[in-house]
Amino acid sequence: MRTESAAYDGAMSTSPSDRFETRAIHAGQEADPTNGAIMTPVYFTSTYKQDAPAQPRAGYEYSRTSNPTRTALQDNLAALEGGAWGLCFSSGLAATNAALDRLVPGDHVVAGNDLYGGTYRIFRRVFERYGIRFSFVDTTELASVEAAIEPATRYVYVETPSNPLLRVSEIAALARVAHAKGKLLVVDNTFATPFLQRPLELGADLVLHSLTKYLGGHSDVVGGALIGNDPKLREELAFFQNAVGGTPGPMDAFLVLRGTKTLHLRMERHCSNALELARWLERRPEVTRVIYPGLASHAQHAVAVRQMKAFGGMLSFELAAGLEAANTLASSTRLFTLAESLGGVESLIEIPASMTHASIPAETRRAQGLADGLVRLSVGVEHVEDLREDLEQAFSRAHAGATARASTAKI
Ligand SMILES: *Cc1c(COP(=O)(O)O)cnc(C)c1O
Repeated sequence: MRTESAAYDGAMSTSPSDRFETRAIHAGQEADPTNGAIMTPVYFTSTYKQDAPAQPRAGYEYSRTSNPTRTALQDNLAALEGGAWGLCFSSGLAATNAALDRLVPGDHVVAGNDLYGGTYRIFRRVFERYGIRFSFVDTTELASVEAAIEPATRYVYVETPSNPLLRVSEIAALARVAHAKGKLLVVDNTFATPFLQRPLELGADLVLHSLTKYLGGHSDVVGGALIGNDPKLREELAFFQNAVGGTPGPMDAFLVLRGTKTLHLRMERHCSNALELARWLERRPEVTRVIYPGLASHAQHAVAVRQMKAFGGMLSFELAAGLEAANTLASSTRLFTLAESLGGVESLIEIPASMTHASIPAETRRAQGLADGLVRLSVGVEHVEDLREDLEQAFSRAHAGATARASTAKI
């Protein structure tokens, strides 16, 4: 059994290799010393026997505070991100919550203006009520970020690539701007995953994940994580992890650990499938714009090339015919399942204006460049030809629907 105290020493020191693929499979995980089990056991226990009062055997006292299956996952994630420590939560939003729990009334956050809808919601509808203030800026513009930083600012909080417009912000440059004013840079690395981009190595102070997405990878678990290097920051965040209690159960930790072992294999296919579909969509007459960081037409393609190993499995495109056509298209696919979320092996399609980003007021959405006819794909690891054929038949059905509506309108 791994001990909780081992986690404090920094997972990198326990990592068997500097190479990502080997770390993914081995970091934080050892065969069970009592029976040789290769897989980390799921420690279904809420409490632990003590040898004498206040003398827990291996640092474990109570499972909200720590659990060995969770420790293995935390160490694994720290090694993948190149960080000294990881802390896991019951969801990505519970991780965001913990990061914000450090702030006090009057504190201020400079946040990206193209964020996961739930992140925007927790900022505006939960933390603003506690007197935390937020400025939403385009984090691809360094000058806007710099201008928005106030003395009371605690975090510069960015998602890159962002959701759903896949804007790419330059992490190293943002870290320089934040650090010059003594602020911390927090990067939500959910879309890229540490296989494609490692924000801590580029100067970020804290990395956030929704483990629900690519790290879990199989759409069967909800989880979140914070990863960093500063031991004092770990101490504070571990306090809130335990004091607030949004921790994952051991089965959830086990499922994510199973996912991280194949992260590199899955990401390679997600990336190659998405790039091929993005190039194909660019040639479709129904599509006015394809947004994918791997396309030369992407506004921050050069930054993406500098800071990412490949360009991810998420892509968005705009239909000239608007929201109704987008809704019809999304209801006409057979392989792409109409669903929220992303990052699983199966392909998903969704309409941000109707679904994930419906909680953002329509005028705000449009002002931020999120068109009503925007379609978001989470490209899975199926055969790319089947995915292309599925979109092709959905385009014809959506087109037939539009033609039928037009002729009915004439009658
Ligand atoms: C899903 C998601 C979150 C929130 O994570 P949950 O696990 O759903 O709570 C945060 N950021 C991004 C980019 C996400 O996609």
